[in-house]
Amino acid sequence: DIVDFNIFLNRIIDRFEMTHKEDVKFVRNIPKSAIFTEISFDKMGQVLDNVISNAIKYSSSNNKRVEFHVKQNILYNRMTVRIKDNGLGIPANKVDRIFERFYRVDKARARKMGGTGLGLAISKEIIEAHDGRIWANSVEGEGTTIFINLPCETIEEDDWDA
Ligand code: ATP
Ligand code: MG
Repeated sequence: DIVDFNIFLNRIIDRFEMTHKEDVKFVRNIPKSAIFTEISFDKMGQVLDNVISNAIKYSSSNNKRVEFHVKQNILYNRMTVRIKDNGLGIPANKVDRIFERFYRVDKARARKMGGTGLGLAISKEIIEAHDGRIWANSVEGEGTTIFINLPCETIEEDDWDA
């Protein structure tokens, strides 16, 4: 399906905002103008659900904050989404492993919190199936940023003629 990614993302954030009114501040840096992209709603929803849940879950602070940033690169017909938290962060030598199946940074904590450790491995498969890339930046004790780069559609004027 072709959608305006900004509307799609805003709806997902709205949903999280409703259930985390008290404990998380959501900051949106999302353009007003449309960025069209071809995605599977279900699959992309699953990716964003996991990334946002992680941002909330791996954070102990009492002023949790999740920031969203969307930027289009018109020259390359791509867009980049950044999802940044102020949570626990990940040690530098472990950041690249979080996309591996069943990998969890803190096994004891992970056991307590449930889940399977598959979220990001599945997210990576889904993003790559969309011809995209996903990666992370993190500073231990400060927070983590997940980057997702995706192709976008150019809606040519001709498309509107028919
Ligand atoms: P599941 O998603 O299957 O419920 P999970 O959240 O443990 O389980 P992933 O989403 O794949 O699995 O994440 C893998 C690991 O990466 C997590 O266990 C955690 O250690 C680390 N991680 C992921 N996102 C963050 C984040 N935003 N901040 C700190 N650590 C993170
Ligand atoms: Mg997860």
